[in-house]
Amino acid sequence: MDKKLRKAIIAGNWKMNMLASGVKTYSEALNNAMPKEPSCEIVLCVPSPLIPALADAARASRINSGAQDLSEHESGAYTGDVSAAMLRDLGVKYVIIGHSERRAYHGEADLTVNAKVTSALAGGLIPVICVGETDEQREKGLTETLVAFQVKAALCGVSADALKGCVIAYEPVWAIGTGKTATAEEAGRMCGFIRDLIKKDFGEKVSNAVSILYGGSMNAKNAAELLARPDIDGGLIGGASLKPEDFALIITAAG
Ligand code: PEP
Repeated sequence: MDKKLRKAIIAGNWKMNMLASGVKTYSEALNNAMPKEPSCEIVLCVPSPLIPALADAARASRINSGAQDLSEHESGAYTGDVSAAMLRDLGVKYVIIGHSERRAYHGEADLTVNAKVTSALAGGLIPVICVGETDEQREKGLTETLVAFQVKAALCGVSADALKGCVIAYEPVWAIGTGKTATAEEAGRMCGFIRDLIKKDFGEKVSNAVSILYGGSMNAKNAAELLARPDIDGGLIGGASLKPEDFALIITAAG
């Protein structure tokens, strides 16, 4: 299927960086540097306290607001957590779920990832579900087994219709924040592998509709080659999304 029929998405992940006071300047710089009519959906996933400032700045631009995590619960006694409804209320459209940093530093297991996906969908948010192998798993030849397990676990109980509105990001852990990028061939093959898994479980129509992103040290120099791969529908970008000029170049590379 022609990938142009799928939604191309360039999503930034600011992680725990930046301040609310810097959001306006950043978005003005991004708006000035990026194409006036970008062909992709642009998303910035920012820390929760920065969301209102981003929503303000995004109103007059093509930027969509994203969050980096959400609670699996609807509401209640969950100190420190943020619900899907709270994010929606602030105008958030996308939410990252199961990022490797949440899995590694917060013990987020696949069951929790699945509960969060369910919660995001119930709350009207688009989940950006992150999967990917560590260096050790890769060296042991476990990449496909691990990624297949993560994808199946994350999507357990999700309907075919709901899945069409989800985004999956293949993010090899060894490539995140390291400057080591998967080759375009490797990244494209793994995104294709994920699409095939979806095809087997949910059918071809659904697999052709789901946007699959690559994440892991994507930058202004390597973006075009990665994004040219037939099964890579966009990027999840950490470090390079912090500089509006670099992020704009990646948006430009998306076509
Ligand atoms: C990420 O945080 O999802 C990511 C891909 O980071 P980086 O681009 O810095 O590797």
